[in-house]
Amino acid sequence: MPINSKVALCGAKARQRNGLPCRQPAMKNGRCRMHGGKCTGPKTREGKLRSSQANLKHGYYTQASISERKRMQEIMKWRHELTEIEK
Ligand SMILES: [Zn+2]
Repeated sequence: MPINSKVALCGAKARQRNGLPCRQPAMKNGRCRMHGGKCTGPKTREGKLRSSQANLKHGYYTQASISERKRMQEIMKWRHELTEIEK
């Protein structure tokens, strides 16, 4: 039972409480200060881009990298098919 039942609670799934919901008071977005109440990430286009660039590790899974690998696979497949025809 919460101490003050009138205050809205965060309710986030808490790992430290065996999966029970968080009992911290919620902020205006419905989450407490520890579960996304204070900050919910970059809002502007520039901020999102800056965040994604700052967290880029090697770029292996970027859209450009994935499509380039797919293109190379297609080329290798065509090449293989051509050598099969020539036989
Ligand atoms: Zn919380």
